[in-house]
Amino acid sequence: MRKTLVAGNWKLNGSKDSIKELLGGVLAGMSEAKSDVAVCAPYIYIPLVQELLSGTDVAYGSESISEYDSGAYTGEISGAMLKDFDCEYAIVGHSERRTLFAEKDSDTANKFAAARKHGLKPILCVGELLEEREQGITEEVVARQLDAVIELEGVEALADGVIAYEPVWAIGTGMTASPQQAQDVHAFIRGKIAALNAGVAEKVQILYGGSVNGGNADELFAMADIDGGLIGGASLKAEDFLAICKAG
Ligand code: 13P
Repeated sequence: MRKTLVAGNWKLNGSKDSIKELLGGVLAGMSEAKSDVAVCAPYIYIPLVQELLSGTDVAYGSESISEYDSGAYTGEISGAMLKDFDCEYAIVGHSERRTLFAEKDSDTANKFAAARKHGLKPILCVGELLEEREQGITEEVVARQLDAVIELEGVEALADGVIAYEPVWAIGTGMTASPQQAQDVHAFIRGKIAALNAGVAEKVQILYGGSVNGGNADELFAMADIDGGLIGGASLKAEDFLAICKAG
């Protein structure tokens, strides 16, 4: 049986003060969490998050990672640097990185590889745009995004990370995928992996992301192939985030 994971993705939000308040609130309510819990923070706040979360039940990580280890890559943060601050997770291939910062499938695969190489668990985001869903090519898009990683790293590598299905049209819009819509894509992802390696398919956690909140998390997490959530907006307030962690 896979344990559920609820991971916050703070995106470009927060300050020293707001993070202290948020994590204080989350830690105070953690005894009621049913899932494993993690937060992914902007790079510059990771030392603060480490200070606040070391020795607690809340894991933490980054929102991206460099595909490079070191050298002349101005502005980048490497897996070794993240490990230096005891990060456990690194999100790779978030749709905002793909669409706003032109990250290609191959870049995401390289980032997935970099995270694994440094002992971080990559949270690999996949998901279709609204027009792709309307064209009926959701599975094709998700398969292409997964294949980039499988071709570079092998299917076994997926067991070292987490997959997050985030339909782009559901992110930050309040338009959550219905539990059945999400389940259908999660089952497709698990089936695709199972065709290559049944053990990996059984083990890998597949999170749903896109307008998850305390009111819809129960229904979503009850689906057979949904193993938790990747949470944007609702991860910024302790009360909202805890409501989702309690659903796990
Ligand atoms: P929202 O929960 O704000 O829709 O964002 C989801 C997301 O992008 C998490 O990575």
